[in-house]
Amino acid sequence: MRPSVPGWAAHLLGLPGAVSFRRYLPIVRDANALEDRMRALDDDGLRSEAAALYLRTGEKRLHREATARYLAVAREAADRTVGLRAFDEQLLGCCALLSGHAVEMDTGEGKTLVGALAAAGFAVAGRRVHVISVNDYLAERDAAWMAPFFDLLDVSVGWIGQHTSHEDRRTAYECDVVYAPVSEIGFDVLRDRFTVTEQERVAPVFDVAVVDEVDAVMIDEAMVPLVLAGSSDHEADEFDQATALVEALIPNEDFTVDGDLATASLTDDGLDRLEAKLGRINLYDTEHLAMFTRINLALHARTLVQRDVDYLVTDGKITLINTTRGRVAHLQRWPDGLHAALEAKEHLPVSAPGVILDQITVQDLLLQYETRAGMSGTVTAVAEELIEFYKLPAGRVERHEPNQRVDVADSIVLTEEAKLTAIITEVATRHRAGQPVLVGTQSVAESEALAARLDAAGVPVRVLNAKNDAQEAEIVARAGEYGAVTISTQMSGRGTDIRLGGVSELDHDRVLAAGGLAVIATSRYLSRRLDAQLRGRAGRQGDPGISRTFLSFEDDVIQLHATDRMLTRIDREQDALPGVTRQTIADQCQAIAESLRTDRHRATWVYNRAIAAQRASVLAHRGEIIHGSASDERVKDLIPKHWRRLVDARDLARVSETTRAVALFFLDEQWVSHLTVLQEIRDGIHLRALGGEKPADEFHRLALREFHGFFDRTYQAAADFIAGLSADDIGRDLTELGLRRPSATWTYMVTDDPYGNPGDRFIRGVGKFVRSKILNLE
Ligand code: ADP
Ligand code: MG
Repeated sequence: MRPSVPGWAAHLLGLPGAVSFRRYLPIVRDANALEDRMRALDDDGLRSEAAALYLRTGEKRLHREATARYLAVAREAADRTVGLRAFDEQLLGCCALLSGHAVEMDTGEGKTLVGALAAAGFAVAGRRVHVISVNDYLAERDAAWMAPFFDLLDVSVGWIGQHTSHEDRRTAYECDVVYAPVSEIGFDVLRDRFTVTEQERVAPVFDVAVVDEVDAVMIDEAMVPLVLAGSSDHEADEFDQATALVEALIPNEDFTVDGDLATASLTDDGLDRLEAKLGRINLYDTEHLAMFTRINLALHARTLVQRDVDYLVTDGKITLINTTRGRVAHLQRWPDGLHAALEAKEHLPVSAPGVILDQITVQDLLLQYETRAGMSGTVTAVAEELIEFYKLPAGRVERHEPNQRVDVADSIVLTEEAKLTAIITEVATRHRAGQPVLVGTQSVAESEALAARLDAAGVPVRVLNAKNDAQEAEIVARAGEYGAVTISTQMSGRGTDIRLGGVSELDHDRVLAAGGLAVIATSRYLSRRLDAQLRGRAGRQGDPGISRTFLSFEDDVIQLHATDRMLTRIDREQDALPGVTRQTIADQCQAIAESLRTDRHRATWVYNRAIAAQRASVLAHRGEIIHGSASDERVKDLIPKHWRRLVDARDLARVSETTRAVALFFLDEQWVSHLTVLQEIRDGIHLRALGGEKPADEFHRLALREFHGFFDRTYQAAADFIAGLSADDIGRDLTELGLRRPSATWTYMVTDDPYGNPGDRFIRGVGKFVRSKILNLE
């Protein structure tokens, strides 16, 4: 028999399908019963109450008494310090996090507080916590906002953003709780990986991750590689050769371009011609993979990348334009070779292509934590994927106040133009009635086009143009002002509270009377979850509000995913197409988009798992070199006589020291070239797939083959090098001995964001940089 649920708690219960947090209700009830006692304590009393707790975390079963006591302490501490008395729903959400779940709580339900309550709980239990935010701005905001609460419980807190210095990072990572975006933690891991001594490391500890906007980070960004790149000494003339070869090719004869798919491919004739020019080689041979890759990049640069649209040439340099965000990417170079190919195309001096020193995907990074938990407005829709990829169970906590938002049925029309007209009318009408309107678009370019049309129709608008997160937050925060019209992409201003009547709620009653916030979507996104996130901006905390989506059959989500049968039917019936059918077509197209995305996630993960495993073994070996005698033993075995001579001339400790440094150098160098080879294999692999081989299997086979003998090669190279050293060389700096580590490194993340428009799809294919940073390693 099921235990009966007390009436006051019935509305807290989650959806079927995902896990239920019902079992934590008694804990919340007990916490409520303790409230008066906690209120009577002074700050010191609360602190010692927290210190005396024996909390157990990260297990599905929570200790009832200790957890209830903690919740009561934390609620009182937060009330005293940040002026928020946590609702029962928030305490329940906290239990779900403490026990290692992903929690769905709607927008505006106060997930920042829930995350802080849980982070402090983990800390009180003796654990180290990273609260992962969506961007720098939110990391700083949340850490600063919640700092007094942490202080009261004697929990130290820090935060990290792009501009945080090396020293400050170290200090932050020593705190019990660190707020940081996932990219910064990843970059720190990558940079740490190349250090030679313990002191250089900033050393994040991978114990507990509490991930805000958990679906965005764990699912949408899961396969985003975080990359550490460095300048290499390689010469780049080969790009000139590849470019010259490609320039001589004849369109449609030697190669074909599929603009929709953003691919260019050589025809058999083109291949023959190239192979003849290169001296009758077979370009499909593994030994010519590098050349083949360069040719493909050159072809890509020639056909699919447009000057002044995708990149600019200024002062003899190529700068990339990030079309989705409308920002010029700050990266100097494009490490995978496209940059060099573009330089060759523009007949600029080809700079040495940067090499990828190391990389890690967001998913791989998050899997390193002992305990994972997270919260978002949309979690249950990806419950299965969270289990599949992270073993993270998900559930929902219901709202504190019932939802008052009205979701109007989608308006689905035939053409883009008809859709735009309808949107303009809808926005103008609501605006004139004083209702604030937030319009969600698919891209910055679309936002700007729409803004121009609205402007022409006499509707003043505020457009989020992706300048920076803090400014976006400021604009979005004002989206609830009387009569305001704000246009933004789905991502922009995430995590910012939209209050009716503006930030200080001056006009609250007028806006309430006008119907609250209206959210208008200009299309459907590639998943229902993204639609729901946008919609969730209206009707926060029981506010009134409406949401409505406009869609046309010319929209990407339809055009890219509709089956031929659907398209034929649309064509044939045109305006006569019944509403239900339109709805079904839209639903199905979106479902196809969703499953494509999951398939791609799975497929990419298959590739990345091989790299992740090899990376882990290299790192483990690196540890053995740094902390053990692995390098001595291996090198001594390879060059026993020379080794003895060195040890006799100098002492063992000094020879070991040099051996260790040399071995690390060659280990890292081997890894860099291994990664380059893996990248080349991947770049070339879809072409092999045409030959009938399964790409993932083929990749694994080649990756394993290339990795075979990795450590033997490392030590052979180290031994060969040491064999050339004299006793005088021992103890000298590696640079003096002629071993140069990369002089500069930079980090970036490649976004594959689902919100872009087709114009930049090709960039996504190759990699798009949103962030970069120069740092000196030495
Ligand atoms: P979410 O991340 O869930 O969308 P936020 O953490 O940004 O929500 O909080 C939204 C708003 O709710 C904030 O203005 C916050 O101050 C307020 N809030 C959160 N918890 C409480 C509470 N227990 N009582 C009153 N207001 C709260
Ligand atoms: Mg939030």
